[in-house]
Amino acid sequence: PPMIKLTDIEKVYQTKTIETVALNRVNLSINKGEFVSVMGPSGCGKSTLLSIIGLLDEPTGGLLELDGRPVKSYSDKELAHLRNQKIGFVFQSYHLINDLSVLDNVELPLLYRAGVGGKERRQRAHAALDKVGLSARTTHFPSQLSGGQRQRVAIARALAGRPEIILADEPTGNLDSVMGEEIMDLLLTLNREEGTTIVMVTHDEHQALKTERLIRFFDGSQVQ
Ligand code: ADP
Ligand code: ADP
Repeated sequence: PPMIKLTDIEKVYQTKTIETVALNRVNLSINKGEFVSVMGPSGCGKSTLLSIIGLLDEPTGGLLELDGRPVKSYSDKELAHLRNQKIGFVFQSYHLINDLSVLDNVELPLLYRAGVGGKERRQRAHAALDKVGLSARTTHFPSQLSGGQRQRVAIARALAGRPEIILADEPTGNLDSVMGEEIMDLLLTLNREEGTTIVMVTHDEHQALKTERLIRFFDGSQVQ
């Protein structure tokens, strides 16, 4: 079965006065090892799509399956496990903690993970920083790094958890084209060499065209 499968997924945000249909019957299957980019105008539901796939938010209708199993059938404990271990997030604005060193930022998510002790935590963080080319910056603080380097730290933080899926929401949105290109190359390498499944929201068509598959969204549904 596909790793990620959405059938008629709907997401309606309801406030007192307004109802917003963020996703309107989305059907989408993503196989293990695919690199998919999602494009579309602001407000068309891209971030909502990522938060539903990443189990940060629940759809208001339709069926979401991971590894052939409806997400609804997983227990809370299993869901927590999936959220923490299967899926890694990368955001446009990095979400690093400014008063922690690069190494501590990368180790942080592993602190809450059962069965990963201090030594392994450190090893994994070093290995992840090595992979993104930042071995020489472990004791720096985020403010001492360029935007591209900060994003690489954020990617290392996701990698340290050894996720099967990386969900990236405009990972190059705050970067100039040269640094954006570097981050894109890094994601392409991860996908190719580690087989990590990646779903990336982007506004950059040039980068989107480098991925295996490009999905266009408009007004809560898929255009092609
Ligand atoms: P995109 O990522 O493509 O810009 P979003 O998924 O962020 O789009 O938003 C899709 C639609 O849902 C927009 O109209 C947005 O205003 C609305 N929306 C997103 N989050 C919320 C929320 N928490 N409450 C109400 N409306 C929301
Ligand atoms: P890039 O070449 O990726 O655009 P910058 O020109 O911003 O990066 O930075 C070049 C080098 O200077 C980087 O290796 C970075 O670690 C370092 N650097 C950038 N800003 C600071 C800072 N505020 N304090 C210390 N070092 C910094």
